Amino acid sequence: MKRVFPVVVLLVLCVLSGSLAQALEATKLADRVYGIKGPKEAFNTAFVVGDRGVFVFGCDLPTYDERLQVIRSVAGNKAIRFVGNGHYAFDDSGCNHLFAEQGAIIVGNPEFARLLLPYWPKEVASRLKQGRVKKEYAEGKKVEMAMPTVLFNDKLTLDLGSHVVELHFVGKAHTTDNTVVWLPKEKILFTDDLVFTELHATADDRSDTVNWQRILRNLASWSPNTVVPGHGVFAAGNGAKPLVEQDRYFDTMRAKVKAMKEAGKSLEEVKKGVRAELGEFAKWPRERAIPGTAEQFYRELSAQK
Ligand SMILES: [Zn+2]
Repeated sequence: MKRVFPVVVLLVLCVLSGSLAQALEATKLADRVYGIKGPKEAFNTAFVVGDRGVFVFGCDLPTYDERLQVIRSVAGNKAIRFVGNGHYAFDDSGCNHLFAEQGAIIVGNPEFARLLLPYWPKEVASRLKQGRVKKEYAEGKKVEMAMPTVLFNDKLTLDLGSHVVELHFVGKAHTTDNTVVWLPKEKILFTDDLVFTELHATADDRSDTVNWQRILRNLASWSPNTVVPGHGVFAAGNGAKPLVEQDRYFDTMRAKVKAMKEAGKSLEEVKKGVRAELGEFAKWPRERAIPGTAEQFYRELSAQK
């Protein structure tokens, strides 16, 4: 009997550590600047706890409770004053209405607003139907609450007293409405889906990979201390590396797609075969993105001629 106890304790510890590994946490990047890594490959939230309130950049609705709890764990009851998004996708804009209901102001570029308006209600309806969101967070919710009420064209500066938060509209890259956040004092950059770290990135017919890479190189020239990608791992002091890697990944993808295309491979053959050609990147997770991304490079290469 006595021997059963250590086994039971061990089992309990295993279960606990398993569930703890899943728990979201705040990664400190600088004084009162944090990132929350999404579970597995899911979207990363970034936030700043300023003297004049909290700024949140993006939030995925299925893990809204956990993300809010993480924000509260370091921000206490301080009001969430501003919410921004890197682009209109639901894993980024899905919690906007819940923050707005608590008094937060959603800020965004007009292109983001244009895309969000028809998209958001459809996405909420389909997720409700699939049972992928809590009913109380989706039922009867109106897009009006998710929409930005403060609009900016190129740049918006938020003065949180202790922190300055700049939102820069960078234009067409992953989609046509990409915005990044720059903290000039801390030199911290939140890139949203311009960067997928150690994961295959999604590009599709909404993307412009040439412009995307131009933006990545420009952002790298800002010499960030830390970059928080839209998806994938990050740490304080990771520097411009995530930007440079994303740029290199796209260079590789374009070169391989081009070579296969010139060797007479069909689009279907390229989509199926390009992964094996990606060398150091081939083994990265999120391989489901490869066919679509390869197709976009193929499309762009064909349009060049
Ligand atoms: Zn995303």
